[in-house]
Amino acid sequence: MYERSYVVSSDGNVSVQLDDGRVLATPTMTCKGRMTEDLIAITDLDGRALNDKRASSELAMHLLIYRERPDVKAVCHAHPPHGTAFAVAGLAIDQPILSEVILTLGCVPLAEYGTPSTQELTDAMRPLVKHHNALLMANHGAVAYGGDLWQAWDRLETLEHTAKIAILSRVLGGSRNLSPDAIEKLINVREASGYLGESARCQACGYLHENNIACDLEDSYPASPSSNGAKISFTREELIELLSQAAKL
Ligand SMILES: [Zn+2]
Repeated sequence: MYERSYVVSSDGNVSVQLDDGRVLATPTMTCKGRMTEDLIAITDLDGRALNDKRASSELAMHLLIYRERPDVKAVCHAHPPHGTAFAVAGLAIDQPILSEVILTLGCVPLAEYGTPSTQELTDAMRPLVKHHNALLMANHGAVAYGGDLWQAWDRLETLEHTAKIAILSRVLGGSRNLSPDAIEKLINVREASGYLGESARCQACGYLHENNIACDLEDSYPASPSSNGAKISFTREELIELLSQAAKL
C-alpha cells in the first residue's frame, strides 16, 4: 500500500483474522512503508490486546466487518488518491463502466462521514458491509475486504483502478455506461463462475436497481449521498401498480 501511494505517513491499516479467531493488525502510528513483522499487534475479536503492541485506532472498523461478514478474513483500509477523490467529492463508485469490475467487485457505495476511530464511522458503515466488498468513507478513504489478504488487497486495487479510469474518462468527455442487457449477462456470469454470489444483488447503490436486477432488500439502506436528487427505481409490479392508480385518477 505504501509503495503504491495508497497511504502516506502512518495512514491506513491492514488486518487478518486467523482460524482461531485472533486478529493480526498493523500497529497504530506506524508508517506502513517502514513497518516490520515484529510490530504487528494481536487482538481478540473484541479488540482486546493479546500481545504488547497497540493495534491501529481504526481496528473497530475491521472488527465490525468481521462481525457482519463471517466469510471475510482480511481487511485493507487505505487512502488511495483516486478512490479517495470520489469519497471527498461525495460520490460512490457505482456506474457500470467496466465489465471486469461488475464481475469481480460490484459497486462501491459511499458511507456517510463519521469521525475516524469512533462509533460514528462504524455506524455509518454497518448497513453497507453485508452486501458490498468495498466501501468508500466520505471525506476519508476506502476499505476493501475478502476471504484472504490477497482478495482484500485485489479488491482495494480494483477500486482504485476503477476510480482512476472513471476520472480519466471524464477528462476525455465522459464515460459510456454498459447497456442493461450487457449488465444482466455479466451478473449471470459472475454468479455462475463464483466471482460474487447472489447476495451481491442486494447492493445498495449503482446499476442493479436501475436495471431491475436487484433482489428485494431485506434491510433498508440509508440513501447514498451520491443519489441525492438522482433516480428512483421501482420494480415492474410497483410501476404497474403506480400507473394503474394514476390512470384511475
Ligand atoms: Zn483512514
